Amino acid sequence: MGNAVNDIRFIPLGGGQRVGASCYYLGIGGSNIILDAGIGMENGVEFEPDFHFLITSPFLQSMGQIDRVFISHAHMDHVGALLDLMRQAGHAQVYMTEVTRVLSEYQLYDRLFIGNKERDEDVRLAARALLERVACVSFMQTMDFGKYRVSFFPAGHIPGAMMTLFDTGRRRILYTGDYSLHPSLLTEGCMLPENLDLDTVILCGLHAKHPGYVKKADAIFRQAGYALRLAGEYKQSVLCRIPQLSKGIEFLKALNNENEMGVPIYLDESIMKMVVKMERLSVPVLTEHNKSMGLMEPVEPHIYLTSGRGAFPLGRYKSLNVDFSLHEDFQEMKMFLKRLNARQAVLVHCGREYSVFDDHTIEQEMMFEDGCRTQFIFAEEGEIYGL
Ligand SMILES: [Zn+2]
Repeated sequence: MGNAVNDIRFIPLGGGQRVGASCYYLGIGGSNIILDAGIGMENGVEFEPDFHFLITSPFLQSMGQIDRVFISHAHMDHVGALLDLMRQAGHAQVYMTEVTRVLSEYQLYDRLFIGNKERDEDVRLAARALLERVACVSFMQTMDFGKYRVSFFPAGHIPGAMMTLFDTGRRRILYTGDYSLHPSLLTEGCMLPENLDLDTVILCGLHAKHPGYVKKADAIFRQAGYALRLAGEYKQSVLCRIPQLSKGIEFLKALNNENEMGVPIYLDESIMKMVVKMERLSVPVLTEHNKSMGLMEPVEPHIYLTSGRGAFPLGRYKSLNVDFSLHEDFQEMKMFLKRLNARQAVLVHCGREYSVFDDHTIEQEMMFEDGCRTQFIFAEEGEIYGL
């Protein structure tokens, strides 16, 4: 087996035809690259990428041979296993945008400390030492590694999210990470050069098997409007629980945008800390109506935004579980694939069919598109693909 520059291998180590623990091996002519390192959750049990499969593959013998790691964005299913990966892959250089680094740092600490308050100082220092090894990259920047060049483009989705383009001179491969075509509360849509002439797109296609799924882009506004009406008009305080910290910031932004009545919005400590970090990176979120929740429960009707870590008295509150999806739906994915018109699309991060009888995949639909040249691979975990 040669290591010629045109040998390109791809192995999903997690996040293949399921969601969670996104992590992909990309071998380019003897250079060993990892795309994302997430964790997943199934039936309340956490799972991680299968690094063992990688070191028993023909391409490398130890994790010490990993050269570079690229992290697309700061959601836990893409970055949650990064510290573990860095401990094992001691020689790897890790790249992400500065916003992703700040968001990741806080979420990784937060995860380490749940139910773990005593030994936190050691753990925190170890984590910090690892994260200091991360190299920050900018959008539109190109880095030349000899065998290939890498460029980074805004992916939309959440602040800091990037798409990564590998160019070997003969082949162009784009890893999308999670992306959005249209602007969202805190980001613009993704931005790619025209005429990319891609050979391969490795696409995070959550809804690639859900033809009937339509994104309800307004779900977040309906939930925000409902909470504001309850507190503003009906004088009923509302407790909004948001498990993912980064979604908490988006929800706060939606509340602030619509808060004409000036309802006080209180934030718990974790959300406040994260918002302050975002502000320092020039992502403005806070308004005069946002306050930190102290020890005393406010008397006036208000909204309390919490990531739901600690217990909280629910007596006076109407409780609201906030959730919304920022992923592209079937039609948007189709538009994006048409625009890229890559020779090959490798689909990963795909949710299971809702019904194997009724649902068809994006591949079956793209077959009928005029001028579409794309061949599809639904990449499975633990399978080796030559791209
Ligand atoms: Zn994401």
